[in-house]
Amino acid sequence: MTLSVQGWHLDETAAQLTLQVTATRPRVCCPLCQTPTSRVPSRYTRTLTDLPWGPYTIRWQLHGRKFFCDHPACARQIFTERFPTVAAPWARRTLRLAERLRACGLALGGEMGARLGHRLGLRTSPSHPAPAGAGGPDAARRGPPSAGRR
Ligand SMILES: [Zn+2]
Repeated sequence: MTLSVQGWHLDETAAQLTLQVTATRPRVCCPLCQTPTSRVPSRYTRTLTDLPWGPYTIRWQLHGRKFFCDHPACARQIFTERFPTVAAPWARRTLRLAERLRACGLALGGEMGARLGHRLGLRTSPSHPAPAGAGGPDAARRGPPSAGRR
């Protein structure tokens, strides 16, 4: 897995750090037939939420590629690049964030696990802001708790 951080943007008001991450492998293998390929017909961007860094929500703008499969007998003619150590295909969060949320849920059950994850600043999606009071010394300036928090 080769990823490169190409840039970043810090939004102090939203307490969010956005990383511009690009895949740099020159060749990938088709997920169906495992044939290596380097033909890129198009690119796409995925937004992933990662573990928080202190009071900051971390968001990745992951710039991936679509590839042609060159094997003539393969049913998959085009496929999106996979990032198996980063995120599941079509996931909106990194594997490590998903793992921690799952651990909270398994240890405490649904509602209490969700509360602990929220308290630890583990956002479940980009549209759900981290709660005030979670994550670090600057957390208090982010405003009142979100409406769903008790
Ligand atoms: Zn293939």
